[in-house]
Amino acid sequence: MKEVRTRFAPSPTGLLHVGSVRTTIFAWLLARHCGGKFLLRIEDTDQERLVPGAIREILADIAWFGMDIDEGPSRAELEKLGESWDGAPDLGGGCGPYIQSLRLPRYKEVAEELIAKGVAYRCDCTAEMLERERNEQMARKELPGYSGYCRDRKVSADTKHVVRFRMPTKRSLQLADAVKGLVTWDSISLRDMVLLKSDGFPTYHLAVVADDHDMRISHVMRGEEWLATAPLHILLYEALGWEMPVFAHLPSVMGNDGKKLSKRHGATFVKAFRDEGYLPEALLNFLTLIGWSPGEGEEQEIFSIDELIKRFSLERVHGAGGIFDYGKLSWMNGMYIKNLPDEEFIKRATPFIEKAGLSINLDRFRAIAGPVKERVKLLTEVPSMIEFLFVDKIERDIPAMYQKGIDAAKAKEILLAVQSKLQTVSDFSHATLEAALRPLEQQFGIKLGPLFGVIRIAVTGKKITPPLFESLAALGREETMKRIGETLDILGQASVAA
Ligand code: GLU
Repeated sequence: MKEVRTRFAPSPTGLLHVGSVRTTIFAWLLARHCGGKFLLRIEDTDQERLVPGAIREILADIAWFGMDIDEGPSRAELEKLGESWDGAPDLGGGCGPYIQSLRLPRYKEVAEELIAKGVAYRCDCTAEMLERERNEQMARKELPGYSGYCRDRKVSADTKHVVRFRMPTKRSLQLADAVKGLVTWDSISLRDMVLLKSDGFPTYHLAVVADDHDMRISHVMRGEEWLATAPLHILLYEALGWEMPVFAHLPSVMGNDGKKLSKRHGATFVKAFRDEGYLPEALLNFLTLIGWSPGEGEEQEIFSIDELIKRFSLERVHGAGGIFDYGKLSWMNGMYIKNLPDEEFIKRATPFIEKAGLSINLDRFRAIAGPVKERVKLLTEVPSMIEFLFVDKIERDIPAMYQKGIDAAKAKEILLAVQSKLQTVSDFSHATLEAALRPLEQQFGIKLGPLFGVIRIAVTGKKITPPLFESLAALGREETMKRIGETLDILGQASVAA
């Protein structure tokens, strides 16, 4: 069987959108499922829209997801573009260059071949002529598009010109799309589209067909917005006598209002999800389930990457758009965080804690990692939850202590009792602390919630923290006693706080 070769072909015009990444994930999963190859090709033919540094961001996002690339731009290619940096990957492969602006001679060659075959022609119409033509068409209420004026004019190769495809008018076409099913065009409404621009750069149509052929792509997986131009691509394959790859046009990712996912709905760039503390494996799992289903009646939603690779197939990709449900993603991310081994959780959360300006005390972090990872949905929630472990001074929300009949005097009384209990405990383990502090409920006749709230605020500053005993255990005896003492001072009992 032919080797499965899929590609991701981004235009470096900005940050990666989760919608395009979903297409990329499918392409990568298919390649891995079939033991094939996954390629990266940079489509930088629209030079006006290029954003410097975008290639780097794209590579970082792909690497963050753990999607490995078999062939793609070499470091030398990146250098030629002025886009190399320390540690840039040196991908390369047998079908390079993998950056379209470095392949211009090849596009010219293919365009010349099409002209020689009579299916393409040179056109020297000026922008003004085209504009006039368009205005006239609009006035006649016709669909605007090139009239074909230069079709038989035999424009010389020496004049400034573009190359256009000679679009047949009476052709019906069919595409057996791997996702959309059989798509039929009864008459093609495309006009004579430009293949090669006058500056020597190809348009998407020529470049994508030439490159997918040259790079031996077996499955062209791309967004459904390209379906409308597929007839031109099919005709190009036909004219060039090239075997067509399998096409799979993937439906768009929608917001919960059924409209294409955009920033109106929430974060859309992969980078934003990285910065907000999502785990790549959770986002990958989540995105895969938008549009792919593991099977009829299958309830499992959390899949390891290996499972996804094993189970992925194009047959189970839906033709209709899928909804990006932010709430579900956040639930899934929480599940993934909870399932991380403690040490891995610490490793992943560390950059977020450091970014919050805290310096980590690893022993304390280790002592609390278990309960914290069960309580957060995003890694960005970790710093504020445990900053009390990493600072010398805490801000206390004293008024939050005053509830269910607790006033300043009662809070003092509680803390004095806690102080004397903790002075006598043999160690600061969860079990010992629990045995020492639980009886306070009876002693004061106050429910544990508000009662422990006083201790929490005294020791951590906040009402909402990881569970109390784990928090005290992680903080340790000395620091806990110091903080209770400080709180008693604040509450006006300086003399007892020694
Ligand atoms: N450069 C195109 C884009 O970024 C790629 C489309 C394709 O995958 O063929 O949308």
